[in-house]
Formats: sequence, C-alpha cells, structure tokens
Amino acid sequence: MALAPVLVSACLLGAPVRHDAADKRAHHPLLARLRAQGRVRAVCPEMAGGLPVPRPAAEIHGAGGGGAVLAGLARVRDHQGRDVTAAFVTGAGRVLALAQHQGARLAILKQNSPSCGTRRIADGRFVGHRLPGEGVAAALLRRHGLLVFGEDELDSAAAALAALDAVQAGPTR
Ligand code: SF4
Repeated sequence: MALAPVLVSACLLGAPVRHDAADKRAHHPLLARLRAQGRVRAVCPEMAGGLPVPRPAAEIHGAGGGGAVLAGLARVRDHQGRDVTAAFVTGAGRVLALAQHQGARLAILKQNSPSCGTRRIADGRFVGHRLPGEGVAAALLRRHGLLVFGEDELDSAAAALAALDAVQAGPTR
C-alpha cells in the first residue's frame, strides 16, 4: 500500500506564493525524503481561498486565533483594513477537502502565518509581534484529526509520521 501523502505549505517548498510573492523554502531531511517518496502535496490555503499573489499581509484580529475565526468570534483583516475572513475560511476548507480526499493524516505548515501557523501567529497589529496560537487552516486540519507541525518542529513531525506509517503498514511478524 502506498504511504499516505503529507500536506506541506507551498512556500516551504520554494513556491513564491507568500503575500510578498516570496517563498520560505525550508531545508530538512524529512522534506527531502517526502519529496523523494512522492508523498508531498503542496498547499497554500490563502491562494486556495482565491487570494492573489502578491496580496496585502493579513493578520487575525481578536483573541483565540484560527479556532475563533472558524467559530465566527474573530476576523482576519489585511493591513489595509479589508476583511478577508471569508477567503481564509474557504481556503482552509479546500485544503481540508484535499487532505480528506488524499488520505493525508499529517501536515507541515509555515509557522507564524494567519493561515498556516501551528503554534504562533501575529498579534493583529502588523508590528511583527507574535502570540501563541494557530492559523485558520492549521486549526481546521487539527479539528478534523490531522497532526500539524511547523517547519520548526520537523524532528517531531518525522517521529509522528514514522508512527503513522508503522500503523498503516500493519503488524510485523
Ligand atoms: Fe505559505 Fe500558508 Fe501563507 Fe500560503 S498561506 S504563503 S502556504 S504560509
């Protein structure tokens, strides 16, 4: 049986899809191995939600991070003040649908992003200050049972993936 695919933020793979049309390519043996195994599924929740490249930077406004956005208790606004919540929620939903269609159980996402952040996000003031929290897509994937790690947690991701692969492979005799 083929090993399950892994979702990876497209910017971590070198795609210039960030708001400033840059990438955030990450170098780690796990990513190289997943590529070689053909298991990587590149995702960009903000583009999946219909936002262009480049686009104004956006941050979550209100307490509770991505989970609060999904619950309608916080909003995502760009630095021009426009409410882009709908695009973020739509994009997260499309990434979840891809994960479910492909059978992915684990995602590696870009830390600090209002979509992809797994443990930290910006505080909504556009001053570069970060708070503990998760982005909208990270929150939705976790809510549906995926294991989600940032690019600064790749050793933990590798261990978790090895455990998932062992379960998928079944008992050894
Ligand atoms: Fe990268 Fe995620 Fe931002 Fe897309 S939404 S540019 S994948 S951090």
